[in-house]
Amino acid sequence: MEPKLQALKTRLTEVNDLQMAAALLQWDQSTYMPSGGAGARGRQMATLSRIAHEKFTDAAVGQLLDDLTAYEQSLPFDHDDASLIRVTRREFAKSVKIPSALISEMNQHFAQTYQVWTEARPANDFARVRPLLEKTLELSRRMAECFPGYTHIADPLIDFADAGMKANDVRRVFSELRAELVPLVKAITDQPPADDSCLRQFYPEAKQWAFGEGVIRDYGYDFQRGRQDKTHHPFMTKFGLGDIRITTRFNEDDLGDGLFSTLHESGHAMYEQGITMAYDGLPLANGTSAGVHESQSRLWENIVGRSRGFWEHYYPRLQATFPENLKSVPLDTFYRAINKVQKSLIRVDADEVTYNLHVMIRFDLELALLEGSLAIRDLPEAWHTRYASDLGVTAPDDRDGVLQDVHWYSFNIGGVFQGYTLGNILSGLYYAKALEAHPDIPAQIGRGEFGTLHNWLRENIYQHGAKYTAPELTERVTGGPLRIAPYISYLKTKYGELYGV
Ligand code: ZN
Repeated sequence: MEPKLQALKTRLTEVNDLQMAAALLQWDQSTYMPSGGAGARGRQMATLSRIAHEKFTDAAVGQLLDDLTAYEQSLPFDHDDASLIRVTRREFAKSVKIPSALISEMNQHFAQTYQVWTEARPANDFARVRPLLEKTLELSRRMAECFPGYTHIADPLIDFADAGMKANDVRRVFSELRAELVPLVKAITDQPPADDSCLRQFYPEAKQWAFGEGVIRDYGYDFQRGRQDKTHHPFMTKFGLGDIRITTRFNEDDLGDGLFSTLHESGHAMYEQGITMAYDGLPLANGTSAGVHESQSRLWENIVGRSRGFWEHYYPRLQATFPENLKSVPLDTFYRAINKVQKSLIRVDADEVTYNLHVMIRFDLELALLEGSLAIRDLPEAWHTRYASDLGVTAPDDRDGVLQDVHWYSFNIGGVFQGYTLGNILSGLYYAKALEAHPDIPAQIGRGEFGTLHNWLRENIYQHGAKYTAPELTERVTGGPLRIAPYISYLKTKYGELYGV
């Protein structure tokens, strides 16, 4: 079996190399590329993605997988080779259903749409991206149609990001969560709002940058295998397990923006940096799902980075960095400011309690678009209507309405938002498990020590990469399926104390 397995690995590594080269082009497009490069860049990324897809879906890969079946079955489920063959077989079965021409058309279209969006958003010009978005919807439907037999047309698209979940599963979890969140949001927003004026002052970018990098270094983000750059819409990307990068953005009039974005992306990056090095270049060297990935970013951003203990340690350092802003602001005021709950317009700025309501709006709109019950031309209005009914706010324009998130302007419509809320739920579930094993973790965080938590996550989640699906991983780590109780209990405890509700 050794030569067959080696042949498979060689082939998969070639595919990976092409994908990583495309990722590097994408990273460059989102950071340093002049806008004039957009046309050629879109074509180049499309070319690389098409060749990668062709190489991966080649009949020779199918043959190797068939030849390796007996070997796989002779091994335990969680053996590395068995897992590589199993995961590759699953990906292969999906990929062969998608024509290379569609992949290439989508990638070229997404690159162009992204470039137009970066100009249309500041100009508040939805009309400019509207025809492109109509094309995106058509392409997303065509992608879903490659997988006939679905219950809901979004199911195949959700499956790409969060395998094991269907539209109806997500709806059920979301409605359970909504039933808990709506009264909690009401109880909190009936109270006087927290004063967050201490965050909304002039904070020079260079100092924000240095402070944020200092924190993620302490978290355990490895700068020997990563770096941070600026972008419009922060993301993590990787070109191999030895080069896992993050991006951020700064607002000199709001301290929270850049800092929490950096903490967030570092969580994604530490997940990937923690994957077993032997998987490098192979399909196991990935986070296992959008939801699990997001559980890690939200854990480090919120559960750790917005906790009282964390700031007991870091606030004196922050005060020393920005004495003119914070010297006379007590820790308690600052802690309340970074955890201010309010019904607001922007998802990425939303607090932990209202955040999921933003996601639910997008998820429902995606389903409606794919079903055909909502047209792209009516999307801006549908957006405003849902914000008014769910959050009681109306954006003055589309810039802070339907144009605010990059997702629909750089990828499919469908399957791109549910992972955020699944991630929040999982962050609470996994963290509760980590605390069961190590009740001392909050006290350690209060001393700026993150090793125990980081090691627990590496051991239980990171190292496995994509070896287990999200449902398999959650079962292994928590002894049961995805459930909302620990996350709700985390929110109620924290915000109960903050707001006396
Ligand atoms: Zn994220």
